[in-house]
Amino acid sequence: MGRSHVRRERDDMTDHRTGYDVVVLGAGIAGLTVALSAVEHGLSVALLEKTAAVGGSSVMSGGFFAFSGTDEQRAHGVGDSAEAFLKDLLEVGAHRNDPALLQQYLDHQQDTYRWLKAHGAEFPVVEISSGQSFARSHHTPIRTLIPALAEQFTEAGGTLLCASRATELVRDAGGRVGEVVAETPDGLVRFAARRGVVIASGGFSRGEELLAVFAPDQLAAIPYGGLGNTGDGLRMAWKLGAGMADMSAVCGTYGSHPDTGIEFHELLTAYYLGAIIVNTAGRRFVDESISYKSLGAACLAQPEGLGFQVFDAVVRARSHPGVPLNDIGMLEEIGHVHRAGTLEGLAEAAGIDPAGLVSTVERYNAAVAGGEPDEQGRTGLVNGVGELVPVVEPPFYAYPAKTLMTTTYCGVTIDPHGRVLDVDGAVIPGLSAIGEVTGGFHGAAYMTGTSLGKGAVFGRIVAARLAAEAAAAA
Ligand SMILES: Cc1cc2nc3c(=O)[nH]c(=O)nc-3n(C[C@H](O)[C@H](O)[C@H](O)COP(=O)(O)OP(=O)(O)OC[C@H]3O[C@@H](n4cnc5c(N)ncnc54)[C@H](O)[C@@H]3O)c2cc1C
Repeated sequence: MGRSHVRRERDDMTDHRTGYDVVVLGAGIAGLTVALSAVEHGLSVALLEKTAAVGGSSVMSGGFFAFSGTDEQRAHGVGDSAEAFLKDLLEVGAHRNDPALLQQYLDHQQDTYRWLKAHGAEFPVVEISSGQSFARSHHTPIRTLIPALAEQFTEAGGTLLCASRATELVRDAGGRVGEVVAETPDGLVRFAARRGVVIASGGFSRGEELLAVFAPDQLAAIPYGGLGNTGDGLRMAWKLGAGMADMSAVCGTYGSHPDTGIEFHELLTAYYLGAIIVNTAGRRFVDESISYKSLGAACLAQPEGLGFQVFDAVVRARSHPGVPLNDIGMLEEIGHVHRAGTLEGLAEAAGIDPAGLVSTVERYNAAVAGGEPDEQGRTGLVNGVGELVPVVEPPFYAYPAKTLMTTTYCGVTIDPHGRVLDVDGAVIPGLSAIGEVTGGFHGAAYMTGTSLGKGAVFGRIVAARLAAEAAAAA
């Protein structure tokens, strides 16, 4: 759908080139939310997207939004609260997150949840996932939601320009960011932004140069995420003196088949259902219940960067068809899961040392049965929650997986209103940033569902602020 809108908008683009209230860079969940909300507030908006179609990493994602106190949680009898959510966020982030950003999220999550539902999101599934002490990940079919938001934006009068890459932010004589230079199919264009520029250009999971600077170890992970996510927005803001946060926390996600590539989306978290993870020697190397980001770092240190998710028929039966990260059946169908009647047979089929695997499973099963303490300190399925199961019921399964560089949860510093702060903590006038390009929210590590969540929450906050500023200036 992106292309037809591009064509339609391009026909009358000359009228709009020089005068918008707001210019947004990047059409993922963050950019689409701020752009659509701003148009709904009566502002004129140009949304520039570098690639040929909208979506970025958002449209490739699992589609989980983290919210507490929702209708769906109540319907499932989940007794979550904003207080529990805050506690979990701080624990996952090792208390390195900015509490003001967290509070802002919690204060605006309900409005955002309802706004998303009013704009096409549906949350039939609520799951407990990485970093959560209650089922808080609300799943929506994201490949439907993202194009729906784009369509609502253009139908409401917004200007969407794909294949248009912002390259420079221009400050006026007073230091205010009021213009964006972009490479478009019509050449270099200057877009004036009366009320402000919003960077929503995502992370740098595909930005080799920035990864080499901030997280060189992660260059060994499989590159992933939106094709345009090379860190353009971060570089442009950096050039203007923006501060940065959480840059040392960049870490890939464990759990993707080694053949994963540009066209192939795949992640499995069978370990949160009860699987163990072993290396090619058949040895466990980590407590499988910790964040899949921390698992990613642990796996990068293994021979060939490989970790096999090994499980039995009991865990196989927990597969959740159609739910990303949990659909074992789909991966079995495409031949990515090894299966055998014995552990030795499984090890041989998968390329794991058979004796190593057998003795590891024996020790693990003994620990689950309550004999010895677990050698990796595992006490639950995910985040300490959920009862462990032994690996005993044939057939046995092994899913080979590596670390995937999906996201970089770090970036420019912002205040709770989404205004970009410079290295000294002063607001850079006219410049806002939202979504994965921002730092400070997650701290040391990310909780599932909070990246789509923060893109939408802060997108709406920034749109409302820009509208209020426009009204005050009128
Ligand atoms: C496989 C996978 C699963 C995930 N699952 C989840 C999940 O279930 N829940 C969750 O919360 N998070 C999840 N994430 C993370 C989440 O999807 C992202 O962090 C989030 O979508 C980022 O949203 P965004 O709008 O900030 O950036 P993006 O969605 O990446 O959008 C940024 C856009 O900006 C464009 N752009 C870049 N540079 C420029 C430029 N110079 N000019 C114009 N446009 C530019 C890009 O092309 C891109 O389209 C997942 C990520 C992946 C890869």
